[in-house]
Order: sequence, then structure tokens, then C-alpha cells
Amino acid sequence: MRVRRSRGIQALAAAVVLSLGLTACGGDDEPTVEPDEDVTFDAGTTMAELNEQGAITIGTKFDQPLFGLRGPSGDPEGFDVEIGKIIAAALGIPADGIEWVETVSANREQFIQDGDVDIVVATYTINDDRKELVAFAGPYFVAGQTIMVLEENSDINGPDDLAGMQVCSVEGSTPAERIRTEYPEAELVPTDAYSNCLEPLRNGQVDAVTTDNVILSGFVAQNEGEFKIVGEPFSEEPYGIGLALEDDEFRNFINDTLEESYEDGSWEAAWEATAGEVLELPEPPAVDRY
Ligand code: GLU
Repeated sequence: MRVRRSRGIQALAAAVVLSLGLTACGGDDEPTVEPDEDVTFDAGTTMAELNEQGAITIGTKFDQPLFGLRGPSGDPEGFDVEIGKIIAAALGIPADGIEWVETVSANREQFIQDGDVDIVVATYTINDDRKELVAFAGPYFVAGQTIMVLEENSDINGPDDLAGMQVCSVEGSTPAERIRTEYPEAELVPTDAYSNCLEPLRNGQVDAVTTDNVILSGFVAQNEGEFKIVGEPFSEEPYGIGLALEDDEFRNFINDTLEESYEDGSWEAAWEATAGEVLELPEPPAVDRY
């Protein structure tokens, strides 16, 4: 896989981000992953089918800055989006052969099971319950649950302070489930997408928002001076690429592609052009071929 980036445009984009705060990430500074043109796959595999079609449907988030945010171009932008492009490119599919579909936390398994999407790359934690319903390649990143409050809030400093507080999170997500089971004294206010928690936090209808640290970091950066993250991460959220259960060949192929992207610099370039505008470059996690 070849990675091309324009350093000049990237530096300019970084300067704009620094001076204006984060408005949208990605854009002209995104790495361009060229599709592998001479790949061949065994007949009958998902890879052969997608390569033949020259098209793939990928589920991602549309409201999460840094990982998946639908920008002015109409296409989503972010680290998950770039990971999706890396996988498409390895299948011989260019970025314009990708159909992006919005998946929210609660419909990811269903969309995969119904064949509405070929894969999901959407801040999607690998866990045993979900593995009963779908398969996962990866992880390609590990996040952790944290809490976001208004900048001026000094009462909430960690999950134990959530007792009696109104806490917004998203139905069908692991952070909402963790509040229900491990912090039952918190009053969970569930919604369907994290961006729907922002206005209630601003106007005091909820006291806190909880989900993965990197999602909250995107909201903090996008809304300068309004919100802050408190406390340390209190879970491990290994992000996987969801695909149909029992499609082992496709899962192995995506795992191979992720490992190659760690080696050839495309994973790092994807990070630097998106989440890396705000967050430190992490070590890529070992893929788990369970
Ligand atoms: N990673 C967590 C999950 O998969 C939270 C983020 C999300 O809801 O997308 O549920």
C-alpha cells in the first residue's frame, strides 16, 4: 500500500487548526491511500466479491470529531474513516468506491447481520457479548471510558462522584452499560448519539457525559473552553472492525491489512492527519486473532 501526503498542505491545515480551534478534522491534510491495483483473491471470498464490485459499504459514526464526523464535503472524516480507506485500498477499492453509512452505537450489530454494511469502523469496542453476534478484526486502537463535564464544574472528578448525578451516554454502548451495572447510583440519561448529550450538558439538564476518552476529547477540542475531561480512564475499550460472524477469511485479511498498515506507515499517517491533530500518537495494539 502506498501512502502519499502533502506536507505543505498539512502544515497549513495544522496552523489553521491551532489558530481557530478544531472545526473539522481531516480535509486536505488527509493521507491519500492508493488502492492496490494488482491484488487477486480466491474466488468465492468476500474479498473477491468486493474487489470485483469495486465498491464497499462501511458503517461509521457521523457525529464524532477526530474519529468519524461528517464534514462539509458530505463524507465523514476521522481516524475510523481513514482505517476504512486503508482496508478498502487493500481490496483494490479507491476512496470514491466507499459508500459511508451512519451507524450509531445501538445498530452496529444489526447493520452487519442484515448486510446493510460490509464492515463497521465506528469506535466499536470488541467484547464477548458482541462476539456472539458479529466478528471482529483488530484491535487497531485502545480507548478508555472517562467523564466530561462543564469547564467550571469542580464537583465531579471521577466515576464515584456520579452518584445522584444525571449522566448522559448512548444506548447500546459499553460506557452506558458500565454505568448501569457498576455505578447504579448514577442516573443514566440515555440517547442515541453522543452529540445529543452536548446541549443538555450546556444547559444543565445533565451533569456529565460519559464515553470513551477519545470521543470526549473530540468534543472538548470542537467546543473550546466549554467542556473538560475529568479523572483517569476506568475501562479498556479495544476498537475492532466489525464484520459478519464466521467470515474468517475476511477477518484474517483485515487483520493482515492492519498489521501491514502498522509496518508501512499508513496507520500512523491516518492517525496524524485526524485524531493526531489533538491527541498523542499511541503505539498500535497487537491484533487479536481469537
Ligand atoms: N467504544 C464504546 C462502544 O463501542 C463506546 C463508543 C461508542 O458507543 O461508539 O460502545
